Amino acid sequence: MDVRTQITVQGIVQGVGFRPFVFAQAKQLALRGQVRNNAIGVFIDVEGESTAIEQLIEKLKANPPPLSCIESIHRTNDLPPACFVDFQIVGSTAEGKRLLPVSADFAVCDTCLQEMNDPQNRRYHYPFINCTHCGPRFTIIEDVPYDRPATTMRDFPMCADCEAEYLDSLDRRYHAQATACPACGPQLYLTDRCGRREHCACANGAGTVERSLALLLDGNLLAIKGIGGFHLVCDALDQAAVERLRRRKFREGKPFAMMARSLDIIHRYCKVSQADEALLSSKSRPIVLLEKLPDATIPECVAPDVNTLGFMLPYAPLHHLLFEMLDRPLVMTSANLSDEPIAYRNDDALKRLASVADYFLLHDRRIHIRADDSLVRTRAGQAMMLRRSRGYAAEAIKTAFRFDQEVLACGAHLKNTFCLGKKQYAFVSHHIGDLENFETLSSFTEGIEHFKRLFDIDPVVVAHDLHPDFLSTQYALGLKAVAKVAVQHHHAHIASCMVENHLSGPVIGVAFDGMGLGADGAIWGGEFLVADLARYERRAHLRYVPLAGGDTAIRQPWRSALSYLGDALGSEALLPELPGWQQLDEKKIHLVQSMIRQGINTVQTSSCGRLFDAVASILGLHHEVSYEGQAAIKLESLAMGGIDEVYPFDIRNGSALEIDMRLMIHSLVADVLERKPVGLTSAKFHNTIAAVVVELCRKLRASDGVNQVCLSGGVFQNMYLLNRIIDRLGRYGVEIFIQRQVPANDGGISLGQAAVANEAVKRGG
Ligand code: ZN
Ligand code: ZN
Ligand code: FE
Repeated sequence: MDVRTQITVQGIVQGVGFRPFVFAQAKQLALRGQVRNNAIGVFIDVEGESTAIEQLIEKLKANPPPLSCIESIHRTNDLPPACFVDFQIVGSTAEGKRLLPVSADFAVCDTCLQEMNDPQNRRYHYPFINCTHCGPRFTIIEDVPYDRPATTMRDFPMCADCEAEYLDSLDRRYHAQATACPACGPQLYLTDRCGRREHCACANGAGTVERSLALLLDGNLLAIKGIGGFHLVCDALDQAAVERLRRRKFREGKPFAMMARSLDIIHRYCKVSQADEALLSSKSRPIVLLEKLPDATIPECVAPDVNTLGFMLPYAPLHHLLFEMLDRPLVMTSANLSDEPIAYRNDDALKRLASVADYFLLHDRRIHIRADDSLVRTRAGQAMMLRRSRGYAAEAIKTAFRFDQEVLACGAHLKNTFCLGKKQYAFVSHHIGDLENFETLSSFTEGIEHFKRLFDIDPVVVAHDLHPDFLSTQYALGLKAVAKVAVQHHHAHIASCMVENHLSGPVIGVAFDGMGLGADGAIWGGEFLVADLARYERRAHLRYVPLAGGDTAIRQPWRSALSYLGDALGSEALLPELPGWQQLDEKKIHLVQSMIRQGINTVQTSSCGRLFDAVASILGLHHEVSYEGQAAIKLESLAMGGIDEVYPFDIRNGSALEIDMRLMIHSLVADVLERKPVGLTSAKFHNTIAAVVVELCRKLRASDGVNQVCLSGGVFQNMYLLNRIIDRLGRYGVEIFIQRQVPANDGGISLGQAAVANEAVKRGG
């Protein structure tokens, strides 16, 4: 006997070929009824044999379309018959309150690539080929529900052929919102730096790609429009071109990412594990940070100071066309000038990048939201996010708790992301950047408005950093009619780690980073907390040193060195004997020393990042850097393996335990003056920091009976340190949690803020 059941599927189920999938399965099972998108997901109303209906649900669970991600399936059984005559896909309705996860942008699929390489296919060599199972999503969506008129593809009315595919429920482009072909879709074109068309595209753009490639191999710098913005591109093996790119982009030291055609080519330069291969080939196609082979023939200027290289595989069809004939890597770095956000609009790119790029490879499909390439590395076979953006944003992070109210968290000042919380979902934004200029700030405020609309969230609680001067704090304080919650930076780091690991605490939180304002007005960054989502106690921290010059100190590690040397050795410090110190400006050194002595323009800091800077400068590795963390990264890259020695340190009692590293600085300076190998000293220093973490965690476990440790903060991107801590602390049976889905650096702060604010308001804070 026939029965009727209604099924609601929630999750990433719209715009990913879910309805055609249901349609095909229902037909096979001889079921009748209809499937449609509604405001919360996909709604199926189905009539037929009850065993066939069970089979349909099993198939949804077992084998859903590749880009979908089912969160829940709800069903209502035994409904009165509707007497459907066949199975149909019906148009969207907009009823109900919407919470529709938006799919991320995904790499072109294999079937589309086959079509693109088939001379008989009407999309032969067409750089904008895509289907229901691949292509741009997040970056082209202007509004929900995800339908062509709500995307930037509305600029391109479909031709009859494309429309026929779009409307055919058995076609693999059925309701593929971004579908296009050479006759109706976006076009590629090449211009010079003044925007004059250099080469008129033939219909499939083939000549344009060839010409662009020739220009690249000739040493030119190209700005190439991709999925989430522009790349600046040059031949990675052409040292002069790479150096020119550095000069013109005002980017002195930060490593450039590269793209290569295949895993084989990446294997020439890097150690690539199976987990790395899987990540490189995943549909998100992030940049994967890989260990550089000792004999890799990549010019040093591509990635100075580091023993890693960042590689990605082609993800847009255009990339595949570009690399078809190319068996060498290209540098492909975000197209911006120093700290500005990535360019993503044609007119803006031509204006801002005219002094950088020689030529522009453009297309006329608009990017609505910019998204940088994501950056990931693997550890012990698992991915660790370093920058979460294209290919991941704005997929929801499922939380173990419910957001009682809709929450907005404004994130950190540097490496900003924001986060919206609703029900059991946290929507962490794409990477916004350092909130230090107008461009980034508008990207931040526009991004928030866009996310509010996409996820239908109207925040009544807003979380922000303790620091009153941050633009993100000022934005939060300027909002009307919302509850505002200030969240301490390091509490947010630890909460972020707790949220993604589904912990409710209390945990021992080790937060090591550059700087965050503490509750006592000092700059924290070497912190041991005992925390849950609602509150934290600061139980131990690195001994304060006075740091001169505030933010300037980030760019000048020698200032941190003076702070630590002065604290440990006083005037005994033999500065001119230290490597490279004679070249520093003596007057400036004296000035900073007297500032420290008299406490003028200094802050007290327990920052672990500054301690790494100090040691790197004492070792003569970097006295000045062009980006935060550069000195620490160099220090890590030199650390020798197989060293077990540790420097001495003290732990003093107080209202919070004070970790006193003066003995270490003494011994370390002695090693430097004895000309011990830098690799040895670096390893001993890293071992010492690991030993500090192990000892403090054991102490806190004994006093508080807490066995779960969360490690967060940018310092934990240091793999030598992280591995050593996990190894040593693990021996004591401690459960250790690290960040994987969101970065351990300040890019993960917004997630933690959202959780803390939610808890604070729930408890009547
Ligand atoms: Zn496809
Ligand atoms: Zn067409
Ligand atoms: Fe931080």
